[in-house]
Amino acid sequence: MNYVFPPFPQPSLAVAGNSARFPIRRIFCVGRNYADHAREMGAVDQASGMEPPFFFMKPTDAMVSGDGELPVSYPPCTQNLHHEVEMVVALGAGGANVTIDAAPSLIFGYAIGLDLTRRDLQARAKEKGHPWDMGKGFDQSAVCSEIHPVTSVGHPANGRLCLTVNGRIRQDGDLAGMGWKVPEIIANLSSLVCLAAGDLIYTGTPAGVGAVVPGDVLEATLTTIASLRVRIV
Ligand code: MN
Repeated sequence: MNYVFPPFPQPSLAVAGNSARFPIRRIFCVGRNYADHAREMGAVDQASGMEPPFFFMKPTDAMVSGDGELPVSYPPCTQNLHHEVEMVVALGAGGANVTIDAAPSLIFGYAIGLDLTRRDLQARAKEKGHPWDMGKGFDQSAVCSEIHPVTSVGHPANGRLCLTVNGRIRQDGDLAGMGWKVPEIIANLSSLVCLAAGDLIYTGTPAGVGAVVPGDVLEATLTTIASLRVRIV
């Protein structure tokens, strides 16, 4: 195959205990999936039950990953860059209209990630009914740890999801607080698009989101499974 210029290299993530890497196809994110975070964002609790999950996406080339402390550049056009710590689901298989029962069999593994957000741009977009893309899908907006395969960590449904900034706890939630559980998220998303191996799903963030500035060091942990360290530069 000839191209008019060299194609962008395939983005990928490391896999714990495996020299082979996980090729990233698409990055899906679930909005407002923990009630305590929905409240802090001013979304109204539904007494009659939860609203269906909703999704947004980040470009695959927005991914930042690697060993040790990851430098992330403070992005342009914002005065309010927020951290959102999230469990990330990595799919090793896909399909359309996947049932809740079948959904776990699609999962290759789990990771911890940051859904970095230009909160001021997102808020402006919400006000105007505009898309969230420029608030959510900017360069380096998706950070992710290595992937831990289901074969070694199973399917974590509870456990601490925590983020510190400069050593101080900002977010301290539990996976059990997820409104839509991972199999439900996969089933719902697969009704909207045909899922595929290589897809990542950021599963939402607990309360405590807040601003970071250049020089800040963020440390995130997903129970005993995964961790991540980022410096804003
Ligand atoms: Mn998020």
